[in-house]
Amino acid sequence: TAACLAAVEGSNALNAFVHNTPDLAMEQAKAADARITAGNAPAMCGIPLGIKDLFCTKGVASQAASAILDGFKPEYESTITQNLFDAGAVMLGKLNMDEFAMGSSNETSTYGDVINPWKVDDRNLTPGGSSGGSASAVAADLCLAATGTDTGGSIRQPAAFTGITGIKPTYGRCSRWGVVAFASSLDQAGPMTKDVRDAAIMLEAMCSYDAKDSTSANLPVPNFEAALTGDIKGKKIGIPKEYRMDGMPAEIEKLWQDGQAMMRDAGAEIVDISLPHTKYALPAYYVIAPAEASSNLARYDGVRFGHRAKLEAGDGITEMYEKTRAEGFGPEVQRRVMIGTYVLSAGFYDAYYNRARRVRTLIKQDFETVFNDGIDAILTPATPTSAFGLGEMKNADPVEMYINDVFTVTVNLAGLPGIAVPAGLDSTGLPLGLQLIGRPWEEAELLNSAYSLE
Ligand code: GLN
Repeated sequence: TAACLAAVEGSNALNAFVHNTPDLAMEQAKAADARITAGNAPAMCGIPLGIKDLFCTKGVASQAASAILDGFKPEYESTITQNLFDAGAVMLGKLNMDEFAMGSSNETSTYGDVINPWKVDDRNLTPGGSSGGSASAVAADLCLAATGTDTGGSIRQPAAFTGITGIKPTYGRCSRWGVVAFASSLDQAGPMTKDVRDAAIMLEAMCSYDAKDSTSANLPVPNFEAALTGDIKGKKIGIPKEYRMDGMPAEIEKLWQDGQAMMRDAGAEIVDISLPHTKYALPAYYVIAPAEASSNLARYDGVRFGHRAKLEAGDGITEMYEKTRAEGFGPEVQRRVMIGTYVLSAGFYDAYYNRARRVRTLIKQDFETVFNDGIDAILTPATPTSAFGLGEMKNADPVEMYINDVFTVTVNLAGLPGIAVPAGLDSTGLPLGLQLIGRPWEEAELLNSAYSLE
């Protein structure tokens, strides 16, 4: 813990940690020492972690990287951080992210951009988003692992951009209680770690049934680490043809082929499959996620939490709401609230929101069909490119940024578990990731398939 705190202290240039909690960390580390001495050390005992700013941590600033939550210190602990602390984990501090987890480059944060520790010719690259601080901190060895959240790819895309491992479990596996809500039907937390074994250990510590989250699954949590045998003989790995996009860089295609070869060599059967509604996933996601966000973010009104705008004489409650939200939310969050409000409005609800929900069902059925046909896991690239330069996409059409999520959003729409694992470097020396998608609740098998790719 002391070594990690020193590393965090010296890491300002990355801008990954935004609130450090050294006193709490040392206190937790001492308690962990005592548990180890007493001979009853749980799985995460004394492991120093970074916690994404989206998690509410008792008495510690928790702002979802938004100015509208300036000064907000929750009175309560999120279920996931509590589970990690109960398992002996240590919190070094809170990690930067895109504002309210909306973004794919960590450039929408009120704390500023996060820098990817990987560089090409000293050029500053994005660590991906929205869990960019988590990815950068783990890749730069500031902490042993970090929490992330994934609504449309925010664990898997930054993991791929920084050469680490990240798993989004099945929707309902990890409690959402105390995690600031973005799109409630898609949001899931998960671990971001250096390898698959760490992911298995940390995921097990994070999962629990939680009566405080109505969508939490009341299922036993398996011993995920015990599933890591590396034996995938006879497993059927599906290769969906719809993920072979036009204009996909040859390097990504090669990465995908290499992954298939590795799994074939390990005894798996590689099977071509079709997920015909894949092309509608991105548009459906960018209707559903903003719709839910516009509703969830209505609570930031200048009354209950954080920031309130300075008012002038004669201003009433409407001006208070308007000024507070105009000052407190950044441009991407405002865009999402506008889109969400529009697609939920009486005149457009059927044309956009209900249609997107129907598309979501078709996407889920695509996966059900291939899993019913005996496919055990699906292998795809994690991202369409390696990490891009900071600022490169800032002035582009926002839809260009949304294309980053093309391989990951289907998994959230269908509620499935998905994992990104590092799978080599591109010709400029930057990490690339592969994604494996598993059957619902079968994280153990999914982790084992991913383990075979290490
Ligand atoms: N990049 C996606 C978005 O901006 C996903 C974000 C996430 O998974 N939190 O919505």
